[in-house]
Amino acid sequence: MSLGIINARTREGNLVNIAIQEGLVTDIVNIDEKSFSENDFDQIIDAKDSLVTESFISPHIHLDKVLIGDIIEPNQSGTLWEAIQKTWEVKRNYTVENIKQRATDVINNQIKFGVTKIRTHVDVDSIGSLMPLKGLLATKDEFKNVIDLQIVAFPQEGILKDEGTEELLEKALETGGKDMILGGMPHNEFNGKNSKKHVNILLSMAKKYNVPIDSHTDETDDPTSRTLQYLASRAIEEKFEKSITVDHICALSAYDDYHAARVIDLVKRAGINVVTNPPTNMVLQGRLDTGAQRVGITRVKELLAAGVNVTIGQDCVHDPYYPFGKGDMLEVANLLGHAAKMTTFSDINTLYDTITKNAAQTMDIDHQFKKGKPADMVILYGVKNVHEAIRTTPPARTTIRNGKIISQTEYDYHRFY
Ligand SMILES: [Zn+2]
Repeated sequence: MSLGIINARTREGNLVNIAIQEGLVTDIVNIDEKSFSENDFDQIIDAKDSLVTESFISPHIHLDKVLIGDIIEPNQSGTLWEAIQKTWEVKRNYTVENIKQRATDVINNQIKFGVTKIRTHVDVDSIGSLMPLKGLLATKDEFKNVIDLQIVAFPQEGILKDEGTEELLEKALETGGKDMILGGMPHNEFNGKNSKKHVNILLSMAKKYNVPIDSHTDETDDPTSRTLQYLASRAIEEKFEKSITVDHICALSAYDDYHAARVIDLVKRAGINVVTNPPTNMVLQGRLDTGAQRVGITRVKELLAAGVNVTIGQDCVHDPYYPFGKGDMLEVANLLGHAAKMTTFSDINTLYDTITKNAAQTMDIDHQFKKGKPADMVILYGVKNVHEAIRTTPPARTTIRNGKIISQTEYDYHRFY
């Protein structure tokens, strides 16, 4: 199977033709150097001078919970804690089919928007037991030829606080197949002592099963929440070898500048990846603030300046945590641009990196638009550079995975004046 893409605009601004054979990019040539003919390829596609890059990555989403907003009362206080509690009743009644149906809707949308790789968290606790995992494993199987899906076993309700969760996490890692990751939620324990125990359980369990850690960490505005500092320092002390990713880390924005600098230094030294989730945290955080409410996300610019790998997640789609969201990573990048005040040319380039190469680093995968690499790409029709892509979030896109077109959205616009 061969595919030729003609008139493609690269991130560097060159107009090129791209040859793809057996799933790999075999050539990228300036259009003046070599023109492609229909006879050279099984299929040829005209990018019409539009931006073509590696496909998008969605490194943090909760596919077991997406779209439960249709069957649940809205979150009245808007806080994380009410969202967690609102989900309990639905979680008790999950079925494999129900989870699969909702997850499938959102995955199809993400593919439509140019995503080919997803890391999802899945609740593992005494309420839903392993049903959410079963639902997502069935979904993963359904999409096995279309996307790469990594699953994080996530103790949403805490580990010590929720009896039986530790054993369920082990079961999830044992039965979830390859690519399983251990999740965490250490700030959701009764006290700081138990939060530390939670972190120690994560480190020893991840070692036992030889899996990476991807932990919700300090998702709170409480400046006394210190689980990121503890996790980073324990990882350094233990010389933890697999990758560690922390999500949200909102409390970092609540610390004073001196303590924040100290924690950022530890995160850098431990080689920890950070996922910030601007859609959800902009609405969940700051709810107890009186007067001006804080933005809610972590210290993105300071983390980037320190050399920490930062990426971004959609996190939630229409559930008690977040009533909006459609899975478009360009929209998420646009939101981060607002929330973190990333507006310069260089900032905007970094925003694009957060949904491509930075996210690939977080997911431990090789993902580059380059000769010899797998052809996982997106064509963004009507835009010529990353600034226009994030500014306009163009609707017409083609998504290519392993050299095959897996989705194509066309857009018709008519003007009658
Ligand atoms: Zn999350």
